[in-house]
Amino acid sequence: MNEYIAFLFYAMRYFQIILVLLASTHVLAQSPDQKKEPPKLVVGIIVDQMRQEYLYRFSSKFSEGGFKRIMNDGFMLRNAHYNYAPTVTGPGHASVYTGATPAVHGIINNDWYDKDLKKHVNCVNDPNQKVVGHPEGKGAISPWRMLTSTVTDELELFTQRKAKVIGISVKDRGAVLPAGHMGDAAYWYDSKSGTFVTSTYYMQQLPQWVTKFNNLKLPDQYLSKVWDTFYPIDQYIASGPDETPYEAKLGGKEKATFPYDLKALRKKNDDYDLLVNVPFANDFLTEMAKAALDGEKLGQNTVPDFLAVSYSTTDIIGHSVGPNAVEIQDTYIRLDRNIEDLLKTLDAKVGAGNYTVFVSADHAVADVAQYLKDNKMPAGYFSYSNVKANLNEYLKKYFPDKDVIEEIAGDQVYLNHAAFQSEPSSAGVQMIIATELAMKFLMAQEGIANVYSESLLRQGDYNEGGIKGAVIRGHHAKRSGDIVIVLESGWYGSGRIQGTTHGSPYRYDTHVPILFYGAGIPKGSSVRYHTITDIAPTLSALLNIKFPSGSTGQPIGEIFENK
Ligand SMILES: [Zn+2]
Repeated sequence: MNEYIAFLFYAMRYFQIILVLLASTHVLAQSPDQKKEPPKLVVGIIVDQMRQEYLYRFSSKFSEGGFKRIMNDGFMLRNAHYNYAPTVTGPGHASVYTGATPAVHGIINNDWYDKDLKKHVNCVNDPNQKVVGHPEGKGAISPWRMLTSTVTDELELFTQRKAKVIGISVKDRGAVLPAGHMGDAAYWYDSKSGTFVTSTYYMQQLPQWVTKFNNLKLPDQYLSKVWDTFYPIDQYIASGPDETPYEAKLGGKEKATFPYDLKALRKKNDDYDLLVNVPFANDFLTEMAKAALDGEKLGQNTVPDFLAVSYSTTDIIGHSVGPNAVEIQDTYIRLDRNIEDLLKTLDAKVGAGNYTVFVSADHAVADVAQYLKDNKMPAGYFSYSNVKANLNEYLKKYFPDKDVIEEIAGDQVYLNHAAFQSEPSSAGVQMIIATELAMKFLMAQEGIANVYSESLLRQGDYNEGGIKGAVIRGHHAKRSGDIVIVLESGWYGSGRIQGTTHGSPYRYDTHVPILFYGAGIPKGSSVRYHTITDIAPTLSALLNIKFPSGSTGQPIGEIFENK
């Protein structure tokens, strides 16, 4: 009997061991990601002013290898938004790469009024730097005003600066902010010389591959072309008519209609600057991206590299003609071919499965306000130009000896703090009264939806919902103004009835694509709400590196759970 029990005991032990072994091989077989290396290269693609809806509206004319390849074989967030205002380019790029909002990273606008310097500053302007590459180019540029780290910085820190981080864009801020503080290089288009330049922040001399690329003089080739529609124009049924009163036209054109003979238009549109107004600038940037892959040997060893590519021309064209123009649809059809070209090059040079791509936008865009008005939609034009004078005049009734409003810049109102310092004992109380009176005046103006005082925003919760939450997350405690103005939905802060803009906390400006594709990314999509600040933490999790210092987002759970 004892022997029988002993036999059973050993038999069970043996069986257990086999079970454990089976289970462990099964686990290994089921989760290849545990032993998977991080991608050899991350390619960040930001499309300036791209709406999420363009992926659907223009898809019938997309190729199989561009946006559709990323949509079908990658992971798409269908409900991804900017969670702050102002929704513009500088803050947008900073937010994607820092995983934070302007309240934290400090890039509160493209340009803002600096309260200490008493002048307007640009988000990437740095008086301590000089241009490298072309003597007349714009080169007083660096990311120094960005206050927190980017995912690219964290990659440099993790790899003891062995990772190569390169940012390229037609716009300086589109190249500089993604490359972070520690990036190896950022290159942007100099529209005087038609070349890519950089600044002394990064180097003293252009690398050979950039000089070689510049010497190809590709802009001269593009600017001798005619921009006509990629497909016959009658197939552009996802757009409005080619000729409408809502589009601004290029210099030398009688109407904003196809075709665009660039050779004939070049002189009247500042020579090389014409390129940024046509989709061939995206061809040019794609060629530059391919040159960077070769020149820097990106993704060729086990240390991950990062190429940040930002397509800006979509924004420049979008401002002129709006989201319903044939010009915009054609620009995206052509950009889709650029993406296809870039992916094919990555397959060949880095190898499919060795790289991860994400695609997003720095903001979306509003419909043309006049078009909305003409179609019974709520919309309008708010003129900021007279507000400062009118507000100062109104406040004179209460403060006869003071110009209370120092500046109104964008949606920010800056009070003249110095004017109250003559009577220090009552300055604080007087400022509160002046703020309340200014807000009362502003609220009476047609087109203003709401105003928020600095003290109200500072006491607010960072995670608050709705428009107030968006304003809180866009408001930097030291840099922003004393009062923030939010216009009504559809309202545009200018009098120009052609073209459109962006910047508001409304959904038409916040809803952007977020797509991931390649190494570490499962197929799928999600309609769960995500914010733009989730991109950088997702990349950190894929790369197994620290999260950016100020990051408030979270890794996109669906990407990691779906594996
Ligand atoms: Zn823009």
